[in-house]
Parts: sequence; C-alpha cells; structure tokens
Amino acid sequence: MSYVQSLLNFIDASSTSFHAVAHLKQELAAKGFEALNEKESWELKQQRKYFVTRADGSIIIFVTPKNWTPNSSFKIIGAHTDSPCLKIKNNPISIKEGYQLLNVEVYGGVLLNSWFDRDLNFGGRIILEDENGQLGQKIITVKKKLRIPRLAIHLDREVNKKGFTPNPQEHMFPIIGLREDISFEDWVKEETGIKGNILSWDLFLFDATESSFGGIDEEFVYAPRLDNLASVHASFEALKASDFSEGTIQMAVYFQHEEIGSESQNGANSNFLEATLKRIQAFVSREEETFYKTIARSFFISADMAHAVHPSYANRHDPNHKPSIGKGPVIKSNANMRYATDAFSIAKFKQWCQKANIPFQDFCSRNDIGCGSTIGPMVASNLGIPSIDIGNPMLSMHSIREMCGTRDHDDIIKVFKEFYRG
Ligand SMILES: [Zn+2]
Repeated sequence: MSYVQSLLNFIDASSTSFHAVAHLKQELAAKGFEALNEKESWELKQQRKYFVTRADGSIIIFVTPKNWTPNSSFKIIGAHTDSPCLKIKNNPISIKEGYQLLNVEVYGGVLLNSWFDRDLNFGGRIILEDENGQLGQKIITVKKKLRIPRLAIHLDREVNKKGFTPNPQEHMFPIIGLREDISFEDWVKEETGIKGNILSWDLFLFDATESSFGGIDEEFVYAPRLDNLASVHASFEALKASDFSEGTIQMAVYFQHEEIGSESQNGANSNFLEATLKRIQAFVSREEETFYKTIARSFFISADMAHAVHPSYANRHDPNHKPSIGKGPVIKSNANMRYATDAFSIAKFKQWCQKANIPFQDFCSRNDIGCGSTIGPMVASNLGIPSIDIGNPMLSMHSIREMCGTRDHDDIIKVFKEFYRG
C-alpha cells in the first residue's frame, strides 16, 4: 500500500502550521483520539489515544499502552509544522504606482527568488472579537491569487550573468490589485464571509498550485512544504497504523517555529514536550526520579528532510556522504552535534531499518560548508533523551516548490512503524 497520494492531500490541506494542526485534529477526532486541554486537569487511562495542542500551531499525539506501569517508556517522533514563507505584516497595505501591494516579512530561510512569478494564496489564523468583547480564533484561507512579478529581462539585461538577488524590503511585495482604497480587514471579511471585528492575525502566503507526482515513473513528488510536512505525515500515518504497545507510550510531536529557531511558547525549545511528558507520567508515578528513569529508557527520533545530492552541484556534498532520492532515509551526523545523532542512536536506527527491510543512507556535510540544524539537539539536551536525526532525501529545500521521492516516503513509514512496534 502506498501512502503518497495521502501525503499530497495532506500537504494541500496544510498550507500553514495552523492548517496542518487543524487538519490533524479533525482526523484524530474522527479516529477516536480524545482531545486534552492544557488549561484543564487530565484523566488518562491505559490503552487510549489522546492529543493536545498549544497556540494552534503545535500538537502532541500519544497512545497509552496495554500495561502502563512506572517501568513504561516513551517512543517519540518529532517534526515541525512550519516552512519558510512570507508573513503578512500588521499594517499590510502599501500603494505604489497605482498598485495595491501586501507588506510582508520573510519567515525563516526562504529561497527568495522562487517566490517570484508564482500564483500565491494566503491564510492562517485571525483573532476576532464578538459583541461582548470575547476573543475567538478562526483558521482561514483567502483563495484569490496574488503574485510577485519578476522584472522583464529587457529592463535587467545582465540578470543571467550577474544573478538575481532580490532585496526583501524593496522587492518582495505581492500585488493584490488595482482598487483605489482598500481595508485589509474588510477584504479578508469579504473573501471569507467572516463576521465580527478582526483584531489581529498570523497570516502567511503560500503556493497556490496543488502538489503532484513527477518523473517518468512518477518516482518524484513535487510539492510545497515537503520540509517538513512529509515527516509529519509519515510519522502520523505510522502512529495511526500502530497497535497498542505492551508497555510503551507511542508519541508524535509536531512543533511550530522550527524554521525561525524554535524559541517560542510552542516551539521545540519551549516546555511543551517536557510538560506533557510529566503530566502523562504523573498517572503512573509522581516521583521525579521515576520520570528521569523513564526518560533514560525512552527514545526520540527527530525527523526532518535531508539534502539529496544535486546532479549539477554534486561537489556541495562530501564525496562519501551523498544521499540520493529513492535510496531510503538518511541518518544525519555532525561532529559538532548540530544533529542529535550519536553511535548508540545510529545503531538503534539501523536495527529498525533492517527489521523493516528498508535501505538507509548517511549524510555528513563537507568540512567547509556548515550544516543546518533541527529540533533534535534541542530536545535531546533539554530532556536528556537518547535521540537521532534522520529524514528523507530531497531537492530544492526551502524553495516554494520542493521535490522528494515516492518510494522513500513509503519506506520511512515502514521504519517508523517498526520503531513504534519494537
Ligand atoms: Zn525542516
């Protein structure tokens, strides 16, 4: 069975972190997972399924075991719900040369030039006030297409020789129309049919084109936000397909704000995961020592996409560490611990791959090119939990439109199932 069509559907439904979490919540509720609220007391039972969200952009999902004791442990897969994009500012309308433009901020490490000449939509969450002054939140999508146009080559003759280097303050304005006067709030209400007073928003632009298969054998996925919705989807499918464990709490955690450093109320460097683990653990023991013993027995997989070798730029990879699309998940290592991986966690991951009968590859960056980082080192150091950084190989990372392999997606789901089982 292939999960890849369901990945495309998930990505298209998850245009922002807020949409991704809303979509997951809907599916979880339909599958009998019970919603927990951080503001309320929790009554947990063994052999039950739960989820809890924070600030609408992060979610933790967990399944309690058949035989839940102080000797149980956690098996956790973590990923992130956000992707680099453009965020709409608080005073969003600018008028230039008769065009109405949207004022945006760059969110994360955007490959800026990929956002030009693309059809764009926007959406996210808005905060509304009703007649009684009560605040409410709504997840919205505005389907009208917008565009950031490139300058014609006739007006920029040297661009192919000198390169295209847009300035994020001067050149990244989506054109929204030609109206004389426009209130952003009124426009959003007109497009979404929402009533009430819009007080504020977290709204982001995204690619309006649907995800698709590509390649002569449809061996590729072409889609926005593969980093890191592909890892969210893979672990989510594995968790849903897993039977109740004898003694392990199976868990997935999806954080917002990884692309901007994870320092937020609900990012990977917040207390969301630790607080949730402690609240869960309290049902079998409230002793601090028991919690630390449980963490030491547990395991965390940080799942985030990896750099496949690019055929035209193969020298950007270390010659012995050049992962390819179609050859399985990538184990990411870095001597300076930009990844959480160590020899122990590599050995564990290799065993799960072998049991699942899937290949794996290694990534280690060139010594003269610094490597990125993930939520892995943060979670590993904050909790002291044995951890690994892995992820499927992809090209065009942080472009508005990325690509990865169909086979790899099904393979990583197999190893995640093995992880939750073993
Ligand atoms: Zn990522």
